Amino acid sequence: MVTAEDEVVGLASELIRFDTSITDDPRDGNGERAAAEFVAERLADAGYAPEYVESGPRRGNVVVRLPGADPGRGALLVHGHLDVVPADPAEWSVHPFSGEVRDGYVWGRGAIDMKHMVAMSLALARRYRRESLVPPRDIVFAFLADEEAGGFQGARWLVEHRPELFDGVTEAISEVGGFSLTVRDGVRAYLVQTAEKGAVWLRLKVRGTAGHGSLVHTDNAVARLAAAVTRLDGHRFPLVLTGPMREFLHGVAELTGVPFDEADPEAAVARFGNAARLIGAALRDTANVTMFSAGVKANVVPSVASATVDGRVLPGREDEFRRTVTELLGPDVEQDWASLPPVATTFDGRLVDAMTAALVAEDPGARVLPYLLPGGTDAKAFQALGIRSFGFAPLRLPPSLDFTSLFHGVDERVPVDGLRFGVRVLDRLLRGC
Ligand SMILES: [Zn+2]
Repeated sequence: MVTAEDEVVGLASELIRFDTSITDDPRDGNGERAAAEFVAERLADAGYAPEYVESGPRRGNVVVRLPGADPGRGALLVHGHLDVVPADPAEWSVHPFSGEVRDGYVWGRGAIDMKHMVAMSLALARRYRRESLVPPRDIVFAFLADEEAGGFQGARWLVEHRPELFDGVTEAISEVGGFSLTVRDGVRAYLVQTAEKGAVWLRLKVRGTAGHGSLVHTDNAVARLAAAVTRLDGHRFPLVLTGPMREFLHGVAELTGVPFDEADPEAAVARFGNAARLIGAALRDTANVTMFSAGVKANVVPSVASATVDGRVLPGREDEFRRTVTELLGPDVEQDWASLPPVATTFDGRLVDAMTAALVAEDPGARVLPYLLPGGTDAKAFQALGIRSFGFAPLRLPPSLDFTSLFHGVDERVPVDGLRFGVRVLDRLLRGC
């Protein structure tokens, strides 16, 4: 009999081989159709009749429901995105779309963001159907397009146009959580995401006086915009200890024996090594300028300069963030704001208990803690349906692996052992929650 653990590594490799990279252009999604068709076929092989939905040309999504023993209980949504961010083969040790298994890892773009979870849930969905296993509650498996561009052709589109696919769903699991963080020798904390920051994309424009580059200029749009974004870049938003981060930092303090001083969370963050960047970003708002453009020729002062800022805002701080950014940029800068809301739920209930039990069963001594993700996920879209979201894509990671830098990074890879561990944990959760 083929188990999910047997299938998961092969499925992860096969999924990585579909180049599902997308950009911010909604017309890009060539590989998504092929990957979604692959998922639909694997589900159909196992006996499902999955729903294949395109939100636009080639923007494939797949949703399937496995009925549970108690239809009176809310359904659990297990979702993962099929799209990835682009990768330049010249920078990688292996081809980013090879799915190669080497040195104990599956390599490739999407290995941890997040075809590993897609492979785990697909392997389990197949097994449950093949063996007629009935989970305690309905499980809706969703394989989605476009997460890396905000989910407008994926989760967000389905929530708006096909909400009946998620009828009765009360809770969801997906990225980014369930992974281990070694806090001291052999002692692992597993981080479950219970909240995520809001995202703000801010397009800025400054208009000035155009003219010949050889003359004296006092109204240069490029220089004025550069000064404004430099002010923004120089600003440090205040430290805010949200509920999940307080619980997380106190939990780690108990595990390590190093006391946590709430007045100085940055001292605690500094002790996390590679993970410090991720954890530090969960303690304050950020606003990074990511795009800047102006001018067409060396001897022409242009009349317009524009820039884009990627802002990330802690739950409850949206108004304060907007006030501060507007003040820093000053009155000359035109601002166009597009925002996606923060997400937050509490770290309690039967599902959380089942996550903890599943992790402890596979890794005795594991400590399961909530945290806030500084990034954004499709949880934002599902929040609109009143669904409680958790980041739970279980993985046990070797202590030396710089997990944070693998997201959208070069040589993204997932440990084969970790993947097999993850499928065992996820199996316990889905059958025990
Ligand atoms: Zn992702």
